[in-house]
Amino acid sequence: MDISKKDAEFLNSLRIQPHGFEFQNWARTFSSRPAYYVAPKSEQDIVRIVHIANMHKLAVKAVGSGHSPSDIACTNAIMLNMDRMNRFISCDAEVATVQGGMRLYQLHEELKQRQLALSNLGSISDQSIAGAIATATHGTGVRYGDMSDMVVGLVLIDGQGRRQECNLSHNRALLDAARCHLGALGIVTQVTIKCEPMFWLHAVQEPESFLNVTQDLHTVAESAEHVRIWWFPHTDNAVVWRANRTQSRSHKSPESFIRDRLYGFHIYQMQLLKARCFPETIPQLTREHFGRRFGFKREWVDEGFRVFNFDCLFPQYVNEWAVPLDLAAAALRELQNWTDESGARVHFPVEIRFVRGTSVWLSPAYGDQVVCYIGVIMYRPYHRPVPYKTYWRAFERIMRKHEGRPHWAKAHGMFFNDFVSRYPRFNEFLEIRNQCDPHHVFMNDYLRRHILPPGASQNTEESQISTENPRL
Ligand SMILES: Cc1cc2nc3c(=O)[nH]c(=O)nc-3n(C[C@H](O)[C@H](O)[C@H](O)COP(=O)(O)OP(=O)(O)OC[C@H]3O[C@@H](n4cnc5c(N)ncnc54)[C@H](O)[C@@H]3O)c2cc1C
Repeated sequence: MDISKKDAEFLNSLRIQPHGFEFQNWARTFSSRPAYYVAPKSEQDIVRIVHIANMHKLAVKAVGSGHSPSDIACTNAIMLNMDRMNRFISCDAEVATVQGGMRLYQLHEELKQRQLALSNLGSISDQSIAGAIATATHGTGVRYGDMSDMVVGLVLIDGQGRRQECNLSHNRALLDAARCHLGALGIVTQVTIKCEPMFWLHAVQEPESFLNVTQDLHTVAESAEHVRIWWFPHTDNAVVWRANRTQSRSHKSPESFIRDRLYGFHIYQMQLLKARCFPETIPQLTREHFGRRFGFKREWVDEGFRVFNFDCLFPQYVNEWAVPLDLAAAALRELQNWTDESGARVHFPVEIRFVRGTSVWLSPAYGDQVVCYIGVIMYRPYHRPVPYKTYWRAFERIMRKHEGRPHWAKAHGMFFNDFVSRYPRFNEFLEIRNQCDPHHVFMNDYLRRHILPPGASQNTEESQISTENPRL
């Protein structure tokens, strides 16, 4: 990589890992070797990095917490670790502005000090705010949008080093494109997000028949402010988790070390390791874990973010798509038929969540309808590979048939032509991308593969090797 001494000195002054450092995502399923892994401290640093990148035809990628289960954050050129840009900037009524590198768990604490909270949240809070909205990270609730939908303004440094601001009344098209930006438009330095007064949630989790749940999915989806369903494949078992805002402050979470940590984590991981050699044991394992850990009612009250989040156990392959709620029951039944009839042995749970329609152009929930996210998982006990590709192919075929759109963060098989037909504003997004980044400074393998038309040119030198780890 040819780069002037002065520019190299500047990059080296921000470097936080030596040359040869390997970036890996959380699940260790994708990796890359950035030539420069640097942590900018200010927007000026980022502007200078973008100019250097343009001058030397290098790619630049920001990374949040690296939790995306795909190569969406990978680059072999300049990778920006955003951890030094994680400050709380301001708060006006119920709207907070923070730097793009702030992690969600830091945001919860900052908001709590101001008696505020995010209205909805996914399973974890490790993500950075800019990384979470990049892929339309979502929680659940038919009356609640995804995290991108909560954004009312942001600032980014585009591919020409220009500082671009957008909000609901200024540069609205950029806002609607950038609220789910895929890391393709610029480096997001500030995010302004709508919050609500701090609240506590009362959660009730109880077993139900999967057949009953799918027979009346709309009613179940609307039965609480936040509803999440876990189906246990190879069985008719499901658990329905419902959470509502409450004034109560009692009933802390009834976590049991023996049941949930020792058995539900450590023993389960060993069982899954064994099941790599004996996959026929998986249905029995699923029934056993359902009976011991999920086959009874649980109830608890806690601060909202603590109730939304839960332990996602060990590294995993995941795939998740959003389908219109009206088609979700049919899609789930077809998935059930496939798991019953194909002979495949798959892990629990299949996770089912709901998100209100949104105006965010690239959100999988774009449109007027509530969508149902369906997520499948295959755990990787002790980071070991397990077979998952046949399951994924069947799952994606069913999701496509039911008008599905994949979660952007997760490795998926949809490409330019699919997106043009699935997203009415997709071409407008690409136009804005072209304006923001005409020289493809923010391009990487993932973006090139998925969102550019086939054969689109590569203007930056990245000697791209962001890869799915070869042992998988
Ligand atoms: C255990 C686990 C649980 C999860 N639970 C959920 C869930 O409940 N719901 C859900 O929807 N998703 C979930 N996810 C997915 C996760 O929310 C997304 O992958 C999210 O995008 C990760 O955020 P991050 O900060 O790690 O971003 P990264 O993965 O680091 O990056 C994601 C994208 O954002 C870009 N980016 C990051 N920061 C910036 C910036 N400042 N400027 C420009 N671009 C930037 C990157 O370049 C990349 O393109 C989960 C993932 C894991 C591993």
